[in-house]
Amino acid sequence: MSKTKNAAGRVVRCPTCAGDSLYSPDNPYRPFCSERCKNIDFGAWASESYRVEAKPDTQDLSDDEPHGPH
Ligand SMILES: [Zn+2]
Repeated sequence: MSKTKNAAGRVVRCPTCAGDSLYSPDNPYRPFCSERCKNIDFGAWASESYRVEAKPDTQDLSDDEPHGPH
């Protein structure tokens, strides 16, 4: 526990590089530590969204009910 009071912000962990990042209005890239880390994270997010495409997982195997002759 730190008793240091920092009104300007606090140090958080950068989601990209896991380094120290200043979470304050002084840091426009928060919660990232730098513009580079922010861009890296955004790039990862963008590429991830690109992978979301129509998957052929519509396998209609509804063979639960047997079709016996009536
Ligand atoms: Zn970083």
